[in-house]
Amino acid sequence: MDAYVNTLLGKMTLDEKLGQLNLPGAGDITTGQAGNSGIAQKIKEGKVGGLFNIKSLSKIRDVQKIAVEQSRLKIPLLFGMDVIHGYETVFPIPLGLSCSWDMDAVEQSARIAATEASADGICWTFSPMVDIARDPRWGRIAEGNGEDPYLGSLIAKAMVKGYQGDLTRNTNIMACVKHYALYGAAEAGRDYNTTDMSRVRMFNEYLPPYKAALDAGAGSIMASFNEVDGIPATANKFLMTDVLRKRWGFKGFVVTDYTGINEMIDHGLGDLQTVSALALNAGIDMDMVGEGFLTTLKKSLQEGKVTLVQIDQACRTVLEAKYKLGLFADPYKYCDEKRAATEIFTAANRKAARDIAADCFVLLKNQGNVLPLKKDSKIALIGPLADNKENMPGTWSVAADFSKSISVLAGLKDAAGSNAQILYAKGSNLDEDAIFEKNATMFGKSLQRDPRSAGEIRDEALQIASQADVIVAALGESAEMTGEASSRTNISIPQTQQDLLKALLKTGKPVVLVLFTGRPLAIKWENENVPAILNVWFGGSEAGHAIADVLFGDKDPSGKLSTTWPQNAGQIPLYYNHKNTGRPLAAGAWFQKFRSNYLDVSNDPLYPFGYGLSYTHFTYSELELSSQSLKGDQRLTASITVTNDGARAGKEVVQLYLRDRVGSITRPVKELKGFQKISLQPGESKKVRFVISPEDLKFYNSNLKYDWEPGTFDIMVGGNSRDTKSGSVNWVK
Ligand code: BGC
Repeated sequence: MDAYVNTLLGKMTLDEKLGQLNLPGAGDITTGQAGNSGIAQKIKEGKVGGLFNIKSLSKIRDVQKIAVEQSRLKIPLLFGMDVIHGYETVFPIPLGLSCSWDMDAVEQSARIAATEASADGICWTFSPMVDIARDPRWGRIAEGNGEDPYLGSLIAKAMVKGYQGDLTRNTNIMACVKHYALYGAAEAGRDYNTTDMSRVRMFNEYLPPYKAALDAGAGSIMASFNEVDGIPATANKFLMTDVLRKRWGFKGFVVTDYTGINEMIDHGLGDLQTVSALALNAGIDMDMVGEGFLTTLKKSLQEGKVTLVQIDQACRTVLEAKYKLGLFADPYKYCDEKRAATEIFTAANRKAARDIAADCFVLLKNQGNVLPLKKDSKIALIGPLADNKENMPGTWSVAADFSKSISVLAGLKDAAGSNAQILYAKGSNLDEDAIFEKNATMFGKSLQRDPRSAGEIRDEALQIASQADVIVAALGESAEMTGEASSRTNISIPQTQQDLLKALLKTGKPVVLVLFTGRPLAIKWENENVPAILNVWFGGSEAGHAIADVLFGDKDPSGKLSTTWPQNAGQIPLYYNHKNTGRPLAAGAWFQKFRSNYLDVSNDPLYPFGYGLSYTHFTYSELELSSQSLKGDQRLTASITVTNDGARAGKEVVQLYLRDRVGSITRPVKELKGFQKISLQPGESKKVRFVISPEDLKFYNSNLKYDWEPGTFDIMVGGNSRDTKSGSVNWVK
């Protein structure tokens, strides 16, 4: 590769080098006429390194042909896309997927996404998004894997493996881990907002998933929009060079986010020439959309503000990516029409999406075993999300064909067959405010707003509900109430839907809340008053089928939350791996004067991290530790026996947490360090063992040195982060 890239670099003019750093928007490309599109001229002149979000194999082939036949050096283009949770076969939104705690499923979803995208001309995906998020107001919490660095790191690794695997194959595509760094820590949960945090927090709590994705071989990384330490990530040398290149040894390429360079003008760092030079100096290689590199770096070079060595280095990383993808050997490697016709949205892929979705749903409550439902019961399915296809795939579904996704109504009817009596009414709009609803149903995701008054829509539903044995209320958020630029200050179910829910409960019939959301919601009232709540996130193309599978008990729910759910928005940020403070509350206490707490609400979450019920029930024995005192590199085995003492088979995620009692810096009250997802038949027991080594005790100290410190450690094991069995050990060096 080195020799090839060196030779090529040697032939390139400065303009051609800058062209490789340019990733413009795709613009107005039409199949058959790509040669006349605005972008074509630039490609011929060697001013384009890649394009993104084109969904059409023939367009991609046409455009690639221009690059390799009509540009001077015939350098092929990269074709990227936001393939975030599936291509045409859409999997649950990432926050949902993370609740499976199943790394094989996560990897499989990325593998299928890569197979489908690559069959349609795409060789590069802007995924995985691994930003740790502790603020449910932030809409993009839906796109990540929750609040935990350990779980987030494992998922990052599984996603990269799934996308990339062996890049020599034309079914595998290059990953781009994003958004580096700390994008999920935006102040007040407002998208693109300022981020500021200590280095110790950064290294221990926010950076691990990016590093895990790179260690797994991710070929590229995307800079985030936010500032870090007063410098936007796009111009942040500490992040882009000191950490990324020097500390972590990353050899791939760094792309900005959409107009990330230009936005530094509004950040207040200078004009386009200045900010473009800052970005290159910091270590950015490719400029998405804004063309700051293309239009200003030549001048900056003449003025001595950047060097040719820097431009060559950036260009080299982009060319190397193309080389690794095999595009120099075959620019049409990803343009196989036969594959496009047979490998996308296949029955097998949809079956995988259905099975995986069912494993991501989280049963939050099931009082009196209202669930599972009987197939021969008379069911009233009510709610604005009950008979809608467009919202099922979830926020990022660039390549999806919404007409092919499965609504809850269709899913229930398919599952129950002729036994079923499924009655349906909409019951309410998404929100009373038509403007809010419009902003929350963009990108073709309409909920077909009903022009009648809220009372009329509700009355019709109550009339339908009165005929049923059980009510299934499909309520919550629309898909675009989370995702990019979809932050909320009020994280409740919209009022008009709450009014509907209250009216449905008044019928006295059992009510199951099928909750759609892309974020943890504040549903304290619902938790207290609705007998059964199944959180289904946005389940992808097969959402309706997967929901039916779980509602009817053909599959057991086994998802566990990857975020803490607060009682109300005032508790945010609320996360399980917090610090103790110097004035912690006594265990079980609510308010104590001069302690760290609130007057009006306890410190407890509504649902803790790791929480999720099953249709069966699991009990945990006491914890057994292989030793109470350890030295150096010895291993500790923590064992616990889990028994399924319910009447159905089920899956349980057994979770291991550690607490480092004393440190040179303050340490979290608990940290996830391991988990195992096990299946148990009714009455069956299994002994689950975790082997703990000093590697699991390590953290970044105030000098950012990664090491462990001797002392006492609490070991906790349980079915969620709150309900654990524990023991302690002393571990010396
Ligand atoms: C988003 C990225 C995305 C990019 C390209 C940006 O607005 O922040 O996550 O990959 O657009 O579509």
